[in-house]
Amino acid sequence: MHEMSITQGIIDICEQHAGGRRVLSLDVEIGELSSVVPDAVEFCFEACSRGTLLEGARLNILRIPGRGHCLDCGTDTPLTAAFGSCSRCGGYRVTIETGEEMRVREIEVDE
Ligand SMILES: [Zn+2]
Repeated sequence: MHEMSITQGIIDICEQHAGGRRVLSLDVEIGELSSVVPDAVEFCFEACSRGTLLEGARLNILRIPGRGHCLDCGTDTPLTAAFGSCSRCGGYRVTIETGEEMRVREIEVDE
């Protein structure tokens, strides 16, 4: 389960930015095309945050929908899989624009 190391990474980033203050909440973006399972991150967060500045913090997971650009017909197309096809022409030469994100967008710290 790679979510454990991902969650650990999220906590490390937040602790660096918190500068010793308690973290009250954090917003984490997870793209729908990434292989990260939000439920698993929530589960791991519970365990990993214990004893850190993030203990008891509220974890908000924001799903970013997948979107790609078709190189064949030039259409922007919604994507539900990383190797999805264009919704207009059915082509597979689609570059991914959004949906692969996995990052901490914002943290709220105790002042
Ligand atoms: Zn197309």
